[in-house]
Amino acid sequence: MEQLFDLNYARSLDREDELAPLRERFYTRPGQIYMDGNSLGLCSKDAEQAVLRTLADWKQHGIGIWTGADTNYFLYHDHIGAKLAHLIGAQPEEVTVCANTTLNIHQCCATFWQPTKERYKILVDELNFPTDRYALLSQIRLKGYDPADVLVTVPSRDGKTMEEDDIIAAMGEDVAMALLPSVLYRSSQLLDLERLSREAKNRGIIIGFDLCHSIGNVDHDFAKIDCDFAVWCNYKYLSGGPGATAGLYINRKHFAKHPGLSGWWGNRKETQFALRPDFEHTHNAGGWQTGTGSILSMAGVDGALNVYEGVDMKKVREKSLRLTRYLMELVDSELAKYGFTIGTPRDDARRGGHIALEHDDAIRINEALKAAGVVPDFRYPNVIRLAPVPLYIRFEDVYELVRILKDIMETKSYLKYANETGPVA
Ligand SMILES: *Cc1c(COP(=O)(O)O)cnc(C)c1O
Repeated sequence: MEQLFDLNYARSLDREDELAPLRERFYTRPGQIYMDGNSLGLCSKDAEQAVLRTLADWKQHGIGIWTGADTNYFLYHDHIGAKLAHLIGAQPEEVTVCANTTLNIHQCCATFWQPTKERYKILVDELNFPTDRYALLSQIRLKGYDPADVLVTVPSRDGKTMEEDDIIAAMGEDVAMALLPSVLYRSSQLLDLERLSREAKNRGIIIGFDLCHSIGNVDHDFAKIDCDFAVWCNYKYLSGGPGATAGLYINRKHFAKHPGLSGWWGNRKETQFALRPDFEHTHNAGGWQTGTGSILSMAGVDGALNVYEGVDMKKVREKSLRLTRYLMELVDSELAKYGFTIGTPRDDARRGGHIALEHDDAIRINEALKAAGVVPDFRYPNVIRLAPVPLYIRFEDVYELVRILKDIMETKSYLKYANETGPVA
């Protein structure tokens, strides 16, 4: 049997890796192992160039930036939406970029949650990232309902993962809408979106997904998933930049629906500048735009998407799974004896792009990792999230990460750090 915990073995995997050249397009730093691309992806030269080009366009064209023959930023959201749609198998008009994930959840809830006396509940899971829930709670209050009555929270059996069966069992006749994550932010469990969407549809429930932890990493096929809406941020695996303008998918069957939160940027482009008193929304995802887009933070997304040009998302997903599998194998063989466990599903079909490494002393080990040049991501109380992003992380980096962890545990160097954490873990 091949020796897995071996630098030469890891390097041989990198030599055979078709996606390896993509790493050159990113600003990686010598001596640093960046395992936090699931919080903020690294800057690429492509993203940088796009932002610089937009600045140059602004300098040169001023107001002409919006509609010049070779600028036309007036339709920039459509242009980026079409590129994003390609990554998830959606149609170009079904995707746009605007605002942030939280606001896009507000938009979708305002649009799709149309409570009636019999059907008014909103289904969520216990483990989703809290902002999704906060947005729903305030929408529920805005419409004069009681959150305790409206929000149905499906519990997790083990505190780490969700069972699709439990979610489906909670899809009662009084449920109007469901909002669920694609990949859970802590455990990295990937839910079966196709199945959940089908079951919701069979029951007349509107369903939307939050793709924050999968966009740019998991090869979603929205032609099959066919949910009603989806939201996501573009700054994690996609590497669109800190606070990059977020993504929004609206299934084309809803294009005629009135956007819950409307604004002039969602008006038909032909008549937007006629500035008429009545709003006529564009019948595509762009109709859900509100005000003027943040062009500079859209440019980073535009550029970051160039990295994916000619890249098959299936290959990205395949490499991601191989990287996380390699990491888990090394944890099993080298680190289990120090008290580490893995809080991520082992099954490829249920695993997203990062690994939740658990340890009772995770806070201090996380600090020791940082001191050794690793960029990990701590989640209270005991999870170190490690994301080997397939666009720029090598098998060699995974090997090196485990070697460093092993050294930290052997030398007990983590004991010198305080057992507490800062505001942005
Ligand atoms: C990262 C993340 C967000 C971020 O929301 P913003 O409004 O873009 O800050 C929301 N939901 C989930 C599930 C996330 O992982």
